[in-house]
Formats: sequence, structure tokens, C-alpha cells
Amino acid sequence: DYTPPPYEGPSGEEILAKRKEFLSPSMFFFYKKPLNIVNGKMQYLFDENGRRYLDAFGGIATVSCGHCHPKVVEAIVNQTRKLQHSTILYLNNTVADFAEALAAKLPGDLKVVFFTNSGTEANELALLMAKLYTGNHDVISLRNGYHGNAAGTMGATAQSVWKFNVIQSGVHHAVNPDPYRGIFGSDGGMYARDVEEIIEYGTSGNVAAFISEAIQGVGGIVELAPGYLPAAYKMVKNAGGLCIADEVQAGFGRTGSHFWGFEAQGVVPDIVTMAKGIGSGIPLGAVVTTPRIAEVLTQRSYFNTFGGNPVCSAAGRAVLDVIAEENLQQNALTVGTYLKNSLTALQHKYQLIGNVRGRGLMLGVELVTDRELKTPAKLETLHIMDQMKDLGVLIGKGGCRGNVFRITPPLCFTKEDADFLVGAMDY
Ligand code: PLP
Repeated sequence: DYTPPPYEGPSGEEILAKRKEFLSPSMFFFYKKPLNIVNGKMQYLFDENGRRYLDAFGGIATVSCGHCHPKVVEAIVNQTRKLQHSTILYLNNTVADFAEALAAKLPGDLKVVFFTNSGTEANELALLMAKLYTGNHDVISLRNGYHGNAAGTMGATAQSVWKFNVIQSGVHHAVNPDPYRGIFGSDGGMYARDVEEIIEYGTSGNVAAFISEAIQGVGGIVELAPGYLPAAYKMVKNAGGLCIADEVQAGFGRTGSHFWGFEAQGVVPDIVTMAKGIGSGIPLGAVVTTPRIAEVLTQRSYFNTFGGNPVCSAAGRAVLDVIAEENLQQNALTVGTYLKNSLTALQHKYQLIGNVRGRGLMLGVELVTDRELKTPAKLETLHIMDQMKDLGVLIGKGGCRGNVFRITPPLCFTKEDADFLVGAMDY
């Protein structure tokens, strides 16, 4: 029932005609003609003509509460009127209140919060902490993992499209525990033996960190084989390393069954990194760790200019409240399960769908031209995305072969939205 206000700015065509040379090439990654998005309301985006799109990508798994959720907007506006910035060199209760609320969502002794602006920075900081704390340098990450695009995190990232041939040393990429394409099928224990071998043959026997997503997002919504994380964590801990859970995509209730993705695997990390859903669209990230590990930074003069910005903190606090008040985690489970069942039914209808996977509202659909050979259907993926856009549904894509639909909508997505999405995919 929401009608966006009339748009009076230049059209997408006018922007392209006058300003194309100034625009980031990423604006042309998805659609032949990029959308000119001018408004957002909950699970919907609106273009220059007021045309409504169901946003099933959620700003890359970021808009947890819905676009421009009134409570989040109100928190931002109220805080902006009081104080926009002072730096983390001074106390501020908005920031302290948010840090406490965030720590309360984490298990065990994970309670010291360092704020950043993005997921990349959160992971850079986590890797730095692990190196300082352990005195070791070697990092283990998973092939097909994505952890960001700065020096350290690009090293930990293991997908060729995201690696730009700059020197990244000290990172070892473990065999990906991918039940659909991985060499050991669903045997989590076998994949973990590769971590053991890396430690034994590729390092001095001592490592700094193991970093992993609970469900790989950019890599095409890949769930890790059952039992993998507990076994890998044990080996890494035995080698003196810290275990980092990258919850940038899977956190904040997106997977439905748990608030954090790692909880479904029954592990407790030493460091948890987060971004995206934490701010529902406000640039914000965080690293949460134990007081003992945090000590390595408090001994030094670590801080960054915007980390702990009061406006971002007010937004983050409102996001936590909205997720709880509106039962968004439960909704992600209910609607996500419903949507996954409908997508699985589509798989029975179309040979093109090789695999449907994920949990909650973090779902992937992998397209293949041959189910036996699992030949990636890259062109079809782009074509269907374009067609779905014309029908009013936006989804993402990913996977290092570019053939996986990523469905990561705002967590207020409804069963009707799920039906609309599947209808557009089945068109
Ligand atoms: N970690 C994961 C799991 C991600 O999906 C991403 C971004 O997609 C990042 C880290 C990097 O976050 P950002 O793009 O905010 O730097």
C-alpha cells in the first residue's frame, strides 16, 4: 500500500548520457540497462517511474529489517540531530549501549566489541588480532570463501574473480567442504583432514587463524559439509590458532534456525566478524572477541576514525530491536523453508536447476546445462535474472562460475513474496 513520492530527478537514461564516464563499472555487472533505483520500502525497491521491484537480493544480504524501516530511520534521524561524530576516543552512551546489546547476542566470553565500517575491515582486524595474539603468521581459509577485498582479506578470499594478482603471503586455502561439488561429498571429517595436512606440511606446525563463513555467500550459498567446522576448529586450536567466524552474511538471524550461522555447527569461535545485516543498510561492521584476545589491541593504540560512529550505532541498536520485536529470525526460518520447498519443486520441473541449497533466507539455486556433469549454465543465469527483473523481481548471482542465483531478501519477506518470486522464475 506504499506509493513512493513522485521522482523529479534525471532518468536513468539521462544519467547514463551525461555521467556514464564517472560511474563505477559495477553498475553494469547485473543488467544490460542498469536500474535507476530511487526509493525503498521494506522488501521493495522503486525505480524512477515508481515501478515496484521485490528485492530478493536485499542490497547483497544487507537489508535485514527492510528498506527504510521506520524505527531504524527514526533512530538515525534522532541521533543525527544530537551528535553525528566524535570518534571512539571519547565515551558515548549510544555506542556503549549498542556494544552491550551486541555482546549479549554472542555466546561465552565473546564480549569486547571493535566497530568498523565494513566486512572487509572487520576481517582485516580479526586477522591482525589473531596474528598479534598467537605470534604466528599462517592463516587457513576455505577455497571458495569470500572475506573482503583489502590486502589481508583478499588473500583469505579464494575465488579467482576476486583475486587481483597482488602479493598475498601466508594464506593456505583448504579444500572446500562443498557437499554438491566437493571431492569428498558430504563427509565433513574427510575435508577437515585437509586442514590437518595443511598444518602439518604447509606451516611450522603453528598457525595464527582459521577463517570461514558458516554458509558461503559470494561463493554461491554453499553450506559446509556437516561436522566440518567442529573438526577443523579442533585441529586449528591444537596448532595454537584462533578460529574466526565470518558472519558478515549469515549473521543477524538470516539463516533462521540461529542468530549466528556458526551456532548451527555447534562451534564457539574465538573471534566473530560481522557487517551487512548489522546496520540494515547503514555502513557498519564489528569484531567481537574475548577480553584476553582483545588485550593485544588495547595494549596498542588501535582505533579507526569512524568505528563506533554514534549514528551507525543508533541504527545498529534499532536493528537489534526490530529483529527481536518483529520475530525476523523466526520469519526467516518459516518463509525460508517455504521458499526452499517451492524452489525444490521447481528443480523437479526443470533439468536446468542442478541444486537448491541454503537455510532460512540465504538460499542458492545453481543452474547447470547437464546435471551429471554439473556444467555451469552461466548465460542462462544472466538471462533469467534479466527476465525476472522485467517481471519485477531482483535476485543476486554468485559462485565462482557465475551460475548460482543468490536469494537473500530482507528478513520481513512473506510467503506471498516467495510465491511471487517463484512465479517469476518459473515464467
Ligand atoms: N565477508 C563476507 C562473508 C562477505 O560476504 C563480504 C561481502 O560480501 C565481506 C566479508 C566483505 O564485506 P564488505 O563488502 O562490507 O567489505
